[in-house]
Amino acid sequence: MIFHAFLIKYAEIAIKGKNRYIFEDALVKQMNIALSKVEGEFEVKKEQGRIYVFCPEQYDYDETVEALQHVFGIVGICPVVIYEDQGFEQMAKDVVSYMKNCHPNYDGSFKVYTRRAKKSYPITSMEVSAELGGRILDEFPDASIDVHEPDLTLSVEIRDKIYVYSQTIKGAGGMPIGTNGKAMLLLSGGIDSPVAGYMIAKRGVKIDAVYFHAPPYTSERAKQKVVDLAKQVAKYSGPIRLHVVNFTDIQLYIYDQCPHDELTIIMRRYMMRIAEHFAKESRCLGLITGESIGQVASQTLQSLAATNEVCTLPVYRPVIGFDKQEIVERSWEIGTYETSIQPFEDCCTIFVAKHPVTKPNLNVIHRSETRQRWRLLRLLRLINIDYKHSESADAASLCLNLKLWYTKKEELVNSSSMTAKKLFCNVFAYDCHNGIKSSAISVDV
Ligand code: ATP
Ligand code: MG
Repeated sequence: MIFHAFLIKYAEIAIKGKNRYIFEDALVKQMNIALSKVEGEFEVKKEQGRIYVFCPEQYDYDETVEALQHVFGIVGICPVVIYEDQGFEQMAKDVVSYMKNCHPNYDGSFKVYTRRAKKSYPITSMEVSAELGGRILDEFPDASIDVHEPDLTLSVEIRDKIYVYSQTIKGAGGMPIGTNGKAMLLLSGGIDSPVAGYMIAKRGVKIDAVYFHAPPYTSERAKQKVVDLAKQVAKYSGPIRLHVVNFTDIQLYIYDQCPHDELTIIMRRYMMRIAEHFAKESRCLGLITGESIGQVASQTLQSLAATNEVCTLPVYRPVIGFDKQEIVERSWEIGTYETSIQPFEDCCTIFVAKHPVTKPNLNVIHRSETRQRWRLLRLLRLINIDYKHSESADAASLCLNLKLWYTKKEELVNSSSMTAKKLFCNVFAYDCHNGIKSSAISVDV
């Protein structure tokens, strides 16, 4: 059967009142983004409180439905057959032929539900429903009418043409991207963080992402895996800008300078600081992680408190109360699991201590970071960098001053100090959007 359009159902509770148009416009925008990846010219139209997708003459049905199923804010997708309005008799024939095509030999209960958008139509909705019900019964003798709890509802909308539909394909639910600000996802190659990103995006939040890469300790393949995961999340969330941060020098530096049982916590504090730096730069209103209480040493309540301490933006942890199995199931559903389990190393696992602290003492962590900071200050003075925050009591603020490092890049590269060169932190930004469609990833270096 050829469907000419899709009627889009969205959650109405969220959109009552005068903000309704904001929600609808955001939904239309996201649908257009999703459909731009499917071949053919689709037209998304808001019409009398409904949203329709009008399809080109030739299109791939499965691909179109799949694209729409990735758009947050849609709860149902109804494939519609559109007939010319050539009077009631023809409409009845068309509706019967629709039933024969879509539900051959139907023998369950059903009702016909008619809406007249065209009020000038000579017969009332109730009369149309009753008459069409009778015609269908004539052709499907084993079927029965049940107006209260039918197994099948056949909807007939009388507009300039006659729209007929009876199936509702489940949508992703949630809110359209762009209706709830933007947040920065800390995306590792694991199972948890893509799920976390998906869950926040589902509430209408646009996503940017940051990945900490530690070459040569973590490979290009590991980085590619994260780019792939970002693309998979972007199928739902729309374009993601992924910042790939070269974390090697910072990690080596921490490894050099800190007691090893504190490595993970201090490293995670650095990650949060750097992520927050990018988050603020791109006007994100929060950070997102895939942390879940008790999953690993760095996710005990004490460790989470220590990590949280360095953030000024709110940190959203949507899987915080999930068991691993629940997160795994969710990653299956959203299609990230297969990529997440590819066996590539993560920077968190490479520089890990044998016995990491599970109940970090904040005073001890502060002392370690302050010691580090003074050593760094000495170094920066040595290479004539005017370190503006040298009087600040804020521990380990080197990461907050990444910008300073960029502007001093030349100086650092030309510097004779190997350590200074090591300290230079490279940041690459990948625009995943282009990558999704053409697999040509544009790199903003
Ligand atoms: P995941 O399965 O998402 O990797 P995890 O169980 O491995 O999580 P951790 O390694 O402790 O847990 O990381 C906790 C969270 O910190 C991750 O969910 C992610 O949000 C963030 N994170 C960890 N490593 C990185 C990284 N290399 N780059 C960006 N974020 C990271
Ligand atoms: Mg991980």
